[in-house]
Amino acid sequence: MENNQYLKGESILKINLNLETSELRSRVMNNLAEIESSIITTDINIWQKVKESLNSLDKPWPLQQHVLMEARNQNDIVLARYLCARYRYDFYPKQQILDEYPPCVQIEPTSICNFRCVFCFQTDIKLNKPNQGHMGQMTFEMFKSIVDEIEGKVDFVTLASRGEPLLNKKLPEMLAYAKGKFLGLKINTNASHLTDEMSRVILDSGVSTVVFSADAGDKDVYESLRVNGNFDKVMSNISKFNQIRKLEFSNSKTLTRVSGVLFNPEKQDMSSHREAWENLVDQVAFVNYLPWENPYDSKPSEVDEPCSDLWRRMFIWWDGKVNPCDVDYLSWLSVGNVKVHKISELWNSEGYSSLRKSHNDNMRKSITPCKSCFVK
Ligand code: SF4
Repeated sequence: MENNQYLKGESILKINLNLETSELRSRVMNNLAEIESSIITTDINIWQKVKESLNSLDKPWPLQQHVLMEARNQNDIVLARYLCARYRYDFYPKQQILDEYPPCVQIEPTSICNFRCVFCFQTDIKLNKPNQGHMGQMTFEMFKSIVDEIEGKVDFVTLASRGEPLLNKKLPEMLAYAKGKFLGLKINTNASHLTDEMSRVILDSGVSTVVFSADAGDKDVYESLRVNGNFDKVMSNISKFNQIRKLEFSNSKTLTRVSGVLFNPEKQDMSSHREAWENLVDQVAFVNYLPWENPYDSKPSEVDEPCSDLWRRMFIWWDGKVNPCDVDYLSWLSVGNVKVHKISELWNSEGYSSLRKSHNDNMRKSITPCKSCFVK
């Protein structure tokens, strides 16, 4: 669950946004010949748009800080591909362009979570009761078949969705199998099961970004939000991850981020949050709280524009079920299963098309849970 809505002024990462954007622009322009020679035919049109967007003064590409940090990590040859992929991720939803595959796939190693965060759908017994059919772990064989299909077709992969990925014992094998196959491989974790060994596995697999979920720099506040979480343990695990990265993987390009949900602004002091975490990770950020807990029975939201996720991301649950998002954590909108259909078939399936059409025809309000959802 991540909506990437960084709070302006509070996501004070360790870079200067304007400076970094202009450095990126200069780097692209100064190495144009080398960069352009690496563009594959199908990316040429997108590359023209990337250049226009980077140079546009009236409508600059609103590159987020974590994107700039990831871009900085790429060599010139890969940078071109990276920017084209980012362009797809950022602009395809606005332009409603569909390729054979989505810009990003989220793979769920497990739907099980050991936490019951107060703002999370894991508090819903319709999801978390074992006999409802929603709880389980992805097998390595299923993970492998997904990766085999999307390698070279999908640039961004995130390992996470409804559950805590580190609870899947096959995760080390999965990470080893995905190594080097995607431009951006991200993993989200609550860090409660982040052992030294697991830290080494993550770093060795070349994951581009590890997102640690934590919403406060204060133990009591953290533990009141992250129910079952132990602040000291999580802080110690993240601290050890940082040490291992420095001492044993000094050339690692893996970026780390602590990301919190701003659920109770009166209790969650942003400066103490930042102070607590900023020396342990590269980025500290908050996302806005959206009412994820039960979109099936809650009142309609004001949002009626088409949902960007329908053109941006596909979610593949542990059992192969394909869903347009994890707001719909009970899979009411599921469009099929990768055990039966190819991922490309599902992305361009009748089910997905009709959902996109309903959103475009101003019918979002007639669909549960879209009608109560805040994702734009
Ligand atoms: S519930 Fe509907 S509107 Fe919300 S993210 Fe999912 S598909 Fe988009």
